Amino acid sequence: MSSDTQIAQDALTFADLGLSPKVLSAVADAGYTQPTPIQAGAIPHALQGKDVLGIAQTGTGKTASFVLPMLTRLENGRARARMPRTLILEPTRELAAQVEENFVKYGKNSRLNRALLIGGVSFDDQERKLERGADVLIATPGRLLDHFERGKLLLSAVEILVIDEADRMLDMGFIPDIERICKLIPFTRQTLFFSATMPPEITKLTEQFLHTPVRVEVAKASSTASTVTQKLVKSGSKPWDKRAVLRDLIRAEDAELKNAIIFCNRKVEVSELFRSLIKYDFNAGALHGDMDQRARMTMLANFREGKLKLLVASDVAARGLDIPDVSHVFNFDVPIHAEDYVHRIGRTGRAGRSGKSFTIVTRSDTKYVDAIETLIGKPIEWHDGDLSTVVESEGDEAPRRGRAGQRGRGRKDEGERKRGAHRAKADDEKQVPEVLASDGAEQDERRSRRENIKADNAERKARHEAPARHEERRQRHHKEDDDKVVGFGEDIPAFMLVGAKI
Ligand code: AMP
Repeated sequence: MSSDTQIAQDALTFADLGLSPKVLSAVADAGYTQPTPIQAGAIPHALQGKDVLGIAQTGTGKTASFVLPMLTRLENGRARARMPRTLILEPTRELAAQVEENFVKYGKNSRLNRALLIGGVSFDDQERKLERGADVLIATPGRLLDHFERGKLLLSAVEILVIDEADRMLDMGFIPDIERICKLIPFTRQTLFFSATMPPEITKLTEQFLHTPVRVEVAKASSTASTVTQKLVKSGSKPWDKRAVLRDLIRAEDAELKNAIIFCNRKVEVSELFRSLIKYDFNAGALHGDMDQRARMTMLANFREGKLKLLVASDVAARGLDIPDVSHVFNFDVPIHAEDYVHRIGRTGRAGRSGKSFTIVTRSDTKYVDAIETLIGKPIEWHDGDLSTVVESEGDEAPRRGRAGQRGRGRKDEGERKRGAHRAKADDEKQVPEVLASDGAEQDERRSRRENIKADNAERKARHEAPARHEERRQRHHKEDDDKVVGFGEDIPAFMLVGAKI
């Protein structure tokens, strides 16, 4: 983009984009004054009915870049029963629900019918909404096809098709479903297509289903907002050392801490840390890929409404979620991929507000910290002295492989291990397994959980396929496995991964 174009875009207002007065008024009520680059680039073309290929990730304002022009274009006309006028495909139920919220927010001056077709919810309500006629249909691919096969839906009146988060659809194995759906929709439709990256499979899909699209690309985030105070915090390498450091930090920050997200690298750690925080009476919830849909939605809603102060999450579970600005981000683990650090930190210090982030660092994390500092182009300050002053807990250097490692443990360490095992057991007994939906949606719940696991695995697999990272992860996993003292590793029973009732 030339600097002239950049200046011109910076000066743009929403009114310059050609949106209808009703939509402009809703945008003003939402408090947004300036379009983001993806909005400025995509909206004028989308309003003209052109196909758009938007290369942008969540957090760039891409949802409004398709919702606003769609609302404007839908003002004339009405949907007929079972024949939606538009279709938005989302890879996950949370993202679909988030898009619906955007339609509610920006469409408050329009009287459009919406239907949300996602798994984990009964078919009956969804069918009633389809029957009433949906101007806007938001769906995950599997559930959409289920309705289609039951004969409850016709796609022949769809005027605008949105495919969102296409690369994530690829990770989750949804591309054959997308191809099938595209073929069921009239050729003359408008297609708005969004993806954060453009792997060959996605390029092929765009060549097949988009007609001379306008390409709008937004740069990937590689810097952190200046409103965020970032700190590194030294810790011993044992999980219980890290948990104690975290508890001290949370307590020390209490006066300023409104709400916080605590990021872990793996879902097993999310569960362990969540249980530990509950045990120490912190007001905490957890979000990870194995939780069923209802538990995840409840957890998120409670966090958004301020009923939960701390949310423990993995990158996979938090990805794409529009969680409101938080006052603090804690990295319980240093992220292995430097870009994840930028995404995590981006959850605080939004819209000019101030935020704080603390990253707990152990001796084995230094190369990941180096990579982060290189990516963000600046060093991160230590909170209370660097790693040179860390005292590792006793038994730390003892080999931990197999029986020999067990024999090598000091008495104190063994005691801690037993106490830890006891604690974990007591904590497990405290957990209330989430009751599965009783309204016939049990099968949906199971499927939804399978989809979540599939998403997690696919993401992990995709990452493993990058050879350099593969080796890094392998070594780190090895280390993590060695460090693990208490717990079930990857074989943790399903009931323990279910969210607790609040
Ligand atoms: P998205 O990339 O669509 O997930 O949006 C990320 C966040 O940016 C959401 O919380 C939106 O409400 C917010 N947002 C969208 N458009 C704007 C804008 N023009 N100015 C400020 N914030 C925005």
